Amino acid sequence: METKKDSCEPTHNSRNFTSPVYIGQIGVGGSNPVRVQSMTNTDTRDTSATLQQITSLYNAGCEIVRVAVPDQTAAENLKELSQHSPLPLIADIHFDHKLAVRAISSGIQGIRINPGNIGTEKALDNIVHALKERSIPIRIGVNSGSVERDLLRAHGGPTPEAMVESALRHIRLLEERDYYQIKLSIKSSSVLNTVQAYRLLSQKVNYPLHLGITEAGTLIRGTVKSSVGLGILLFDGLGDTLRVSLTGDPVDEVLVAWEILRSLGIRKRGPEIISCPSCGRTEIDLLSLTREVEKHLQAVQEVFTVAVMGCPVNGPGEAKHADIGIAGGKECGVIFCKGEVIKKVSERELLTEFKKELNNYLDSISEKS
Ligand code: SF4
Repeated sequence: METKKDSCEPTHNSRNFTSPVYIGQIGVGGSNPVRVQSMTNTDTRDTSATLQQITSLYNAGCEIVRVAVPDQTAAENLKELSQHSPLPLIADIHFDHKLAVRAISSGIQGIRINPGNIGTEKALDNIVHALKERSIPIRIGVNSGSVERDLLRAHGGPTPEAMVESALRHIRLLEERDYYQIKLSIKSSSVLNTVQAYRLLSQKVNYPLHLGITEAGTLIRGTVKSSVGLGILLFDGLGDTLRVSLTGDPVDEVLVAWEILRSLGIRKRGPEIISCPSCGRTEIDLLSLTREVEKHLQAVQEVFTVAVMGCPVNGPGEAKHADIGIAGGKECGVIFCKGEVIKKVSERELLTEFKKELNNYLDSISEKS
């Protein structure tokens, strides 16, 4: 008798394939990977500080970066920024069509502006004309604070339905002008409203979706809110780019975004560092040790698993699946590989020896690849 194979393996829903657009060389939507995006928080008029931050974001794994363009000086600076930036740039503009046209002609690879907020039909015509000339995408970014008054009245507030209706209005303005290189975001600071809004919107249009929870907060709160909200949507198969909005260093946004993608098995980049929570058996400063290991591996892009465990009794066993690991003990520690102890060293030499073994391991995997 044929038996049915049980599978308890959780898998995400199949990806919702949207119509792809290109931000420079980076494909977004369709069968392209889910892209990691961030935004600079430097003054866009300060070329050196902005390029420095963009480079840090690039090194952390960012693939697309948005810069705020609050005035003409910032718009004028986009030309130099886009010439030297290692990442494709999206200019973020509110309301001002002259700034938008100027930014588009400067050589940036995408723009974020809401077509319904520009003012006159003529001003929007000018923007679409400039977009067509350069053939770059526009992101419509609806958030709970940008919903039009009549929709707020009709829906009793910035509900997911009101946000979706607002997004559809903006989309229509571009479609009426035969422009379809569109990317959409529909963010709220409420996780549940954001999830609901993206789900509703994805049933109505097939443009790529940029995911985010707006004003998510500082590192801990923002990471939790973004991980829950974006995690649900990505698990649903929705999302073509994501930004984890955090109050703080944007490099953290990129690191968190990669951990979200990694935890869902969607994309991987760099080593996964697992560390035990420590307990009464821990006799070393596990937190400093873990931070030192993280620092040592910061720029590494190879995918492998590193364990940092608090004791040699349970550590190697608990981290059997790790490719390489370290476990601290009393005045000594062990280095292990695939669950087997390969070296025992004094506590003083533990970190130095582990860094050497990590480098050897990296050499061995790069030889194989
Ligand atoms: Fe405690 Fe050792 Fe487990 Fe860490 S690995 S939590 S120190 S038992």
